[in-house]
Amino acid sequence: MKIYNTLSKRKEEFIPLEEGKVKMYVCGPTVYNLIHIGNARPMIVFDTVRRYMEHKGYEVNFVSNFTDVDDKIIKKAIEEGVEASVVSERYIAECKKDMKAMNVKEATTHPKATEEICGMLDMIGTLIEKGHAYAAEDGTVYFRTRSFQGYGKLSHKNLDDLQGGNRSLLVTGEDQKEDPLDFVLWKPKKEGEPYWESSWCDGRPGWHIECSVMSKKYLGEEIDIHAGGEDLIFPHHENEIAQSEAANGKPFAKYWMHNAFLNIDNRKMSKSEGNFFTVRDISEKYDLQVLRFFMLSAHYRSPLNFSAELMEAAQNGYERIVTSVGNLGYLLENTATVTLKEEESGLLEQAKGFITSFEEAMDDDFNSADAIAAIFDLVKFANVHANAGSSKEFLKGLKDEILLLSDICGLIVERKQEMLDRDIEALIGERQAARKAKDFKRADEIRNELLEKGIILEDTREGVKWKRA
Ligand code: AMP
Ligand code: ZN
Repeated sequence: MKIYNTLSKRKEEFIPLEEGKVKMYVCGPTVYNLIHIGNARPMIVFDTVRRYMEHKGYEVNFVSNFTDVDDKIIKKAIEEGVEASVVSERYIAECKKDMKAMNVKEATTHPKATEEICGMLDMIGTLIEKGHAYAAEDGTVYFRTRSFQGYGKLSHKNLDDLQGGNRSLLVTGEDQKEDPLDFVLWKPKKEGEPYWESSWCDGRPGWHIECSVMSKKYLGEEIDIHAGGEDLIFPHHENEIAQSEAANGKPFAKYWMHNAFLNIDNRKMSKSEGNFFTVRDISEKYDLQVLRFFMLSAHYRSPLNFSAELMEAAQNGYERIVTSVGNLGYLLENTATVTLKEEESGLLEQAKGFITSFEEAMDDDFNSADAIAAIFDLVKFANVHANAGSSKEFLKGLKDEILLLSDICGLIVERKQEMLDRDIEALIGERQAARKAKDFKRADEIRNELLEKGIILEDTREGVKWKRA
């Protein structure tokens, strides 16, 4: 499996630090609003990376943070006259709803910055002890950028160019810096802002320190993959590397992955210019599976343009898979032939070739566009070869293969059919009979089958009651 590493600017073979395991950290959103479709891109892309790694047999420890202390959150809280945590908790809950609807798996750990302040104070203390940071007179703590040898290695920037080309690095209010390149680790509180006590001043952390700390706490000092949108390469990830490597004395992340940006109608997303959509806006018009399909239809390192026409095309593409799975399901329920016919076994063997093409695409730096093309080829193959005379085993083989590949992409392509009341009651009757005959295995099977279809059974004194979940 090859991954394009921003650090080396080339594709590298993926070799995990620990055999069979992947430690992965993805920078999450700042929670002051509903997430927009740009934020959805890294969520979907890196969730797919995780799913593919799991398919390959790796155990993935996936950490993604919520930045819940930040100027924008504080501004919104002041406007609403509430505590900052009211705003951040609200949008964390909303973000989780959107993630679920996009079928993004829950992270192994979803830490919040405000719950990790102790770790941040510790790391800042270590950096000061090691001479990589200093407290200015007003209590602001800065990272001494030039003290870290490798600064610029991720963004491929040269320190002197940075300083020469960017005078604005010395911002007003930060004039106690030793050097314009130094960046804030801790800053003094302002009136009405949340703050924490520290030996330097009552204040709050700068943005970059949280990821260094959470990554270390939940994954260890050295991790396999660190990821996020390409806007984070500089300064956020460059600063994370400086902090982590200076504090721990070890390389931080082995592979750095960055997704390209999503634009709308070929323009940069901008709220003030009116070309801006939240994921929630899109969910009013489309199933969010269509948004997921759309995001994966391009390579994650290519810029992606969002437009009504492209979403329609994504809808059609997604429906093609759903329809094929639906047809296979219908044929499966209605065919009388059970065992595989000879020619079918050859066809199933041939169909395995689509898994190989899918894996080849994903092994090449997660080329989801080509991987989806392999699913389409499989769908076409299934549509040509499956018919009313096919055996159950053949139909199931094809259906399972489409489901497997779609699931690696996180695409839900099987529409759960609503069960009719009379079918539910017939199954409940069968379960009662099985229990009477002490066939508890069959009784349990029926309960589980119903549960899978969203029907919950309750055994009461008056008999069995059921409800839809
Ligand atoms: P933020 O809440 O701005 O920190 O962003 C959270 C994540 O979304 C980061 O990984 C960003 O790089 C990413 N992101 C923000 N805007 C876009 C966009 N238009 N396209 C792709 N990724 C984006
Ligand atoms: Zn981060």
